[in-house]
Amino acid sequence: MKKELKYLVIHCTATPQGREVTSDAIRAWHTAPYPKGRGWKQVGYTDLIHLDGTVERLVDNNEDAWVDDWEITNGAKGYNGVSRHIVYAGGLDKRKKPKDTRTEAQRKALAEYILNFHRKHPNVRIIGHGDIPGVNKACPSFNVPTFLKEIGINQ
Ligand SMILES: [Zn+2]
Repeated sequence: MKKELKYLVIHCTATPQGREVTSDAIRAWHTAPYPKGRGWKQVGYTDLIHLDGTVERLVDNNEDAWVDDWEITNGAKGYNGVSRHIVYAGGLDKRKKPKDTRTEAQRKALAEYILNFHRKHPNVRIIGHGDIPGVNKACPSFNVPTFLKEIGINQ
């Protein structure tokens, strides 16, 4: 049963600054059987923003205002049926502490992505993973409300 899209949730891959992350790696982390992976049916994110700003689609999406069952990704328990999750490669410094490691290209790609999305879905809230109530995570390692203001979105 499809549900109305309510959230765009932004994540980081929680990998060290400057390290590229492939879609195959994410697929393995999320869908390989435990303990190698998490044993999920689907990966956690719809789109992956690479270090060079390329946006790679991981899970099909028809871009409408509904979350179909085949579009669901496993980014945040309890929110997946009403959310789209996206991720940028990075989010940790070399010592594995949370850090906004977005390259200039990633910031630009993310801004473009969010602005496009917001034009299509003005009522969908855009949040960081750590902004979800009860989630105690630094993900995506930058302040999403501040970034939204920087790119001219007031929600
Ligand atoms: Zn996350």
